Amino acid sequence: MVVTRAETVRWDDADPLAGFREEFALPDGLIYLDGNSLGALPRAAAARAADVVGREWGQGLIRSWNDAAWIDLPARVGGLIAGLIGAHADEVVAADSTSVNLFKLAAGALSLRPGRRVILSEPGNFPTDLYVMQGLARLLGDGVALRTVAAPDIAGALNEDVALLLLTHVHYKTGRVHDMAALTARAHAVGALTLWDLSHSAGALPVALNEAGADLAVGCGYKYLNGGPGAPAFLYVARHLHDAIQSPLSGWMGHAAPFAFDDTYSPAPGVARHLCGTPGVLAMSVLEEGVTLMARADRGALRTKSRRLGDLFIALVEERLPGVFTLVSPRDSAQRGSQVSFAHPQGYAIIQALIARGVVGDFRAPDILRFGVTPLYVRYCDVWDAVEHLVQVMRGEEWRQDRFQARNAVT
Ligand SMILES: *Cc1c(COP(=O)(O)O)cnc(C)c1O
Repeated sequence: MVVTRAETVRWDDADPLAGFREEFALPDGLIYLDGNSLGALPRAAAARAADVVGREWGQGLIRSWNDAAWIDLPARVGGLIAGLIGAHADEVVAADSTSVNLFKLAAGALSLRPGRRVILSEPGNFPTDLYVMQGLARLLGDGVALRTVAAPDIAGALNEDVALLLLTHVHYKTGRVHDMAALTARAHAVGALTLWDLSHSAGALPVALNEAGADLAVGCGYKYLNGGPGAPAFLYVARHLHDAIQSPLSGWMGHAAPFAFDDTYSPAPGVARHLCGTPGVLAMSVLEEGVTLMARADRGALRTKSRRLGDLFIALVEERLPGVFTLVSPRDSAQRGSQVSFAHPQGYAIIQALIARGVVGDFRAPDILRFGVTPLYVRYCDVWDAVEHLVQVMRGEEWRQDRFQARNAVT
């Protein structure tokens, strides 16, 4: 046996991040391997939500825009996120959803590259990334089009027709990591801008936007940042683009002086011009707690643990269920985000059978079982126990039961 359960317990005892698990309100007995899709609830977030609702809103009412600094939330939360993604605090704001932020930044980027008509991405990118670009191309007309080429061909497909390279840094299904610095350099060599989707990166692994020379980025608040269901997203604009790039959604919160109530839009300086409407104060306050908690953890320790958790998962599955699953994540943990994915034709039913046993992973069509290993609250022994459950599901063919076959609306 590669590793005994007792051994994994010893790893947990020696884990420098072990104390973080207590910061989360996790249900007893549940093994949660879906923090890559919806992060767990930080205890501080529950307390903050109660305070924002009861005191700041209930008692403070409209005064809280100033007294509780609600108006500063997008910049304040953005500044915290900046620290996790290798950016300056004045380059990031929390705002809107990832989908909306993709639209705003891609539209802004295209207007900085007049005459260029191609948005380059890869097939199998997260659907909303592709859909939003298709909608933007339709809106702009004039031959603007989304072009997708397989990952190994991206560098070769970058040419002077390309206005924008849009990639998800860590692939949502496989967990494969793109070389951000190399692809950004290659895009810049042909005069294209880059837009990185960090939804599966922020809080999952160290990101170095400034060091890579990245132009633009977006990402999700409800995955590794533990901001709660539908949490606000974030966006990043490199300083060198601050004066040039504009938002197509020129709302009043992105105005230089929103409370001057002028009839004419005049963009705020810096990244703030990419705000649109009034921030969702409840959601953003809760997100602030998730990000604050994440920011306390040592980046190196997080990455080391995430890689070891993934390696352990793969080793145990391959040892205990040889030939049953096909690994679709990179085997080399340096090339892998904070998740492990396997393919199996009965993937959906197997995931349902695991969930019934209290092991929550998820399924991604057509055949992928996806397990997030979030180092702030997943233990080595949880991985061991999850694989033990998987062994029992497969040996007993539990997945054959009818109740595990019917598809829910959300997988
Ligand atoms: C989760 C995710 C999104 C989510 O976008 P929403 O607008 O929040 O629905 C976008 N892109 C990627 C790569 C994701 O993983």
